[in-house]
Amino acid sequence: GERPYDVLIASDGVNSVIRDTLVQQDPAFKFASAPLNGTQKILHLKMPSSLDPSAVHAMSGSVELPSGAKQRVGFFWVPERNRTTGGRQGCVLVNWGESEEDGSLMKATDAGQVRDLLNGAFPALNGEVTLEAAQQFIDQTPSMNTVTKCSTYHNAEGRIVLLGDAAHSSGGASGQGCNAALQDAQVLDGILGEVGGDLDAALPLFSERRVPEGHALLDLSINQGPKGPVLRLLFLGLSAFETLGHRLFPKAVLPPTQNLLTQTDWDFSVIYGRKRRLLDFVKKSNRKYGVFTGYD
Ligand SMILES: Cc1cc2nc3c(=O)[nH]c(=O)nc-3n(C[C@H](O)[C@H](O)[C@H](O)COP(=O)(O)OP(=O)(O)OC[C@H]3O[C@@H](n4cnc5c(N)ncnc54)[C@H](O)[C@@H]3O)c2cc1C
Repeated sequence: GERPYDVLIASDGVNSVIRDTLVQQDPAFKFASAPLNGTQKILHLKMPSSLDPSAVHAMSGSVELPSGAKQRVGFFWVPERNRTTGGRQGCVLVNWGESEEDGSLMKATDAGQVRDLLNGAFPALNGEVTLEAAQQFIDQTPSMNTVTKCSTYHNAEGRIVLLGDAAHSSGGASGQGCNAALQDAQVLDGILGEVGGDLDAALPLFSERRVPEGHALLDLSINQGPKGPVLRLLFLGLSAFETLGHRLFPKAVLPPTQNLLTQTDWDFSVIYGRKRRLLDFVKKSNRKYGVFTGYD
């Protein structure tokens, strides 16, 4: 049925139905999306004793497939409490590269096989992926991270405004999605104050201020590092130089981009601007490797 409203705030996440309706109904609204970084599931596991149980950790490993090909697997550990015992453990985001080959994680249907694949990929776990955890893994439907790009974050006629992942999803790649969503809410609130609650004035201003931030965040998330093998090596060297250079000469040398994202409260567009030459270069190179470019 129909309901009257003053303003419709679409904060319904990356698969926003409100945004999808706008895409269908507003020909001027440009939108594009793409999957990012393979597939993932969640495990709840005891953290290995070598890891600090109060910190987050990223581990990468690989599984050897029957064909001899390697399948990349990542474990991202977030500390949590066991809901029954209250003991410390880890919530693990398991992320792996695409492969439809038999024997791959995607095709596995046997808990014993999954347990052995994951324990084999991460010897540091000392075999602590249990049969029960492997069964949890099999029982889940895998989810995919998605990146999106919208040309505007509002629709004036329908008085609709998109916030957070509904407007700009970077698929968790830079760890800034929550910040960006909260900033959207803060900026909208500020604008409403500036224009005395006039929604017709506020919504275009919101897009004007936030679209450049959302687009910069997307680039900072997917074009921070190059995909080409040679450039990747150079990039590693550059990151080491930036880290050391910044430590020695903090005023003269900027730290790596990810440090600026996590350790400053600079706007995403400002961070992009400070690293523009490098990021534009990486972005151009990444196009050749099929990295998402949006609708343009
Ligand atoms: C793997 C991964 C790792 C990430 N890591 C980080 C990180 O380290 N740091 C960080 O800042 N960000 C991270 N992010 C991104 C972050 O999770 C999102 O950017 C953030 O949650 C976006 O907030 P949101 O409120 O816009 O959307 P969501 O958190 O998705 O919230 C949308 C809400 O709307 C609800 N909803 C949807 N449709 C409807 C409907 N029709 N009716 C009613 N309710 C509806 C959903 O149930 C959901 O509760 C990560 C994302 C992923 C995928």
